[in-house]
Amino acid sequence: LVVLSDVNKHFGDLHVLKDISLSVTRGEVVVVIGPSGSGKSTLCRAINRLEPIDNGTITIDGKELPAEGKELARLRADVGMVFQSFNLFAHKTILDNVMLGPVKAKGIKPAEAKQRAMTLLERVGVANQAAKYPAQLSGGQQQRVAIARALAMQPKVMLFDEPTSALDPEMITEVLDVMTSLARDGMTMVVVTHEMGFARKAADRVIFMDAGQIVEESTPDEFFTNPRSARAQDFLSKLL
Ligand code: ATP
Ligand code: MG
Repeated sequence: LVVLSDVNKHFGDLHVLKDISLSVTRGEVVVVIGPSGSGKSTLCRAINRLEPIDNGTITIDGKELPAEGKELARLRADVGMVFQSFNLFAHKTILDNVMLGPVKAKGIKPAEAKQRAMTLLERVGVANQAAKYPAQLSGGQQQRVAIARALAMQPKVMLFDEPTSALDPEMITEVLDVMTSLARDGMTMVVVTHEMGFARKAADRVIFMDAGQIVEESTPDEFFTNPRSARAQDFLSKLL
């Protein structure tokens, strides 16, 4: 569903993505882990070309993403993103946050968009907060709204960049539970996270990045019990 081939990216002299090739099949959950600065966020943003790349190609559902323009905007709608910071519209209600994309970008009628938004808010467990504003919700609730908002666009793939790292411990679980249930329902997902419990439980595949490269790629079982590379072994030993 998502195919990156030989993607390279520099920030000045810094080679942040080095010949990244990766394919994610439909329904697959790929967890990306690695040390700080290894290029995980850059990779995540590169997948829908939010981050310009130097060379390489990115294909989503068989269509290559151009560097810019209307076609890029159209294809990007197939990719839902959830970041560390919640990025909700502060001056809009929770319901509006989830409805607006479908109404404005997809021309869905407000009544229908509202109904769908409520169904999604129900699904992530915050339907009772629909009339409130983001600042009135806890971090965990806001992040679940952010997930609902991304899902409202009916994406083919969801990208998560450390969705729980800004949250208090007691709120992490509620967000991970929503993500786990999405994964079980067959959503294609790329998840950058430090939550190794989630990686073990929900990932079909773990990708370990270091210094802009994919160093290791394996099943969670293999990766956590028997990491092949010295760099992955070193990374895992520091977590324990
Ligand atoms: P973390 O775990 O801390 O989130 P990461 O793996 O997500 O790290 P990236 O954010 O992708 O790492 O950054 C990779 C490298 O690129 C880092 O060295 C970072 O300093 C650098 N970098 C990221 N964004 C920019 C930018 N806009 N301009 C210059 N350098 C950048
Ligand atoms: Mg990052």
